[in-house]
Amino acid sequence: MADITQKPLPTPVEPGEDMGQQQQSYFTWGSETTTPSPPSGSTYDQFQQANNNSDVISISTSFHPSTDPAPDTIFASSDNVFFYTIYQTILDAAPDAFRPCLNAPLSHPQYRTTVIVLDSPSSELNIILHALYKTSPARNSPQFEILVRAIDRMPRYGLSAEHTITPSTPLYELLLAHAPLYPLDSYALAAHHRIAALAATVSAHLLSHDLSTVSDTMAERIGPVYLKRLLLLHSDRFAALKDILLRTPVPHSATRSCGFEDQKKVARAWALVSAYLVWDARPDMSTITLGNALNPLLEHLTCKSCEKALEDKIRDVMVRWIAVKVNVVLQ
Ligand SMILES: [Zn+2]
Repeated sequence: MADITQKPLPTPVEPGEDMGQQQQSYFTWGSETTTPSPPSGSTYDQFQQANNNSDVISISTSFHPSTDPAPDTIFASSDNVFFYTIYQTILDAAPDAFRPCLNAPLSHPQYRTTVIVLDSPSSELNIILHALYKTSPARNSPQFEILVRAIDRMPRYGLSAEHTITPSTPLYELLLAHAPLYPLDSYALAAHHRIAALAATVSAHLLSHDLSTVSDTMAERIGPVYLKRLLLLHSDRFAALKDILLRTPVPHSATRSCGFEDQKKVARAWALVSAYLVWDARPDMSTITLGNALNPLLEHLTCKSCEKALEDKIRDVMVRWIAVKVNVVLQ
């Protein structure tokens, strides 16, 4: 209950009316940080008397009073921005929305006549409401860290990030767009909130990540299950790379110019380059790196059969490595 105070409902400002006049008349309370909330049961007049500071209150550009259908429920952020919403739209998305902060369900008539004041800054509340409305907050260009803070706040408001942020919703797509720049934080966010599809997709950006640099705090946020999945993704790819490389090219039948001893030299050279590649490899190693390391082996071959076997082997390595590369953390 510490998160919420209730305020009398201001009359929505009609488009075309004198906004300044309306705000003077109705928005006379101070900001949440400096003004005490009205005690329960106090009247509007008592509340007004207690709050003579007339701070300006802002109205959200996305959730404003003149939307159609008309809004019926008003939220205020900790920095005094008002969000005009339709409670049924919110409850359709999350039946327990904001329940931990309210005395009664959001559908209760009392919330049609009072402003619900939350402890969230407007930047975060905006993202949360967009998520519930399944609309995009992208036009406000929220920074990644604000997205993270808003999503981390959801459970405290009775919202499940897992059920709200599903594939193809605008917020999901926005998180995907940030993932290449913030791969580990994106993965941790998805893991922490059990958004499995997001974790799987984002994990593709973590193949070049040195897992030894993951901090204890980050490991705790990711949690044991998703941390294990990430470790397995890395170790499986190393195993696959070893398996692909450490088999030498298939020898051909001995000829007068190229016997088994000659072919052993080819196999030894292959093993040497492969060992170097596996030793130095990152799980996101490109096929170009592989090719640059393996193709020089062809340069000094005089036997056409050895050359053919080596070319086939290099092609096989490329094809198999490309197939392994598309793997991500399993859902
Ligand atoms: Zn040969």
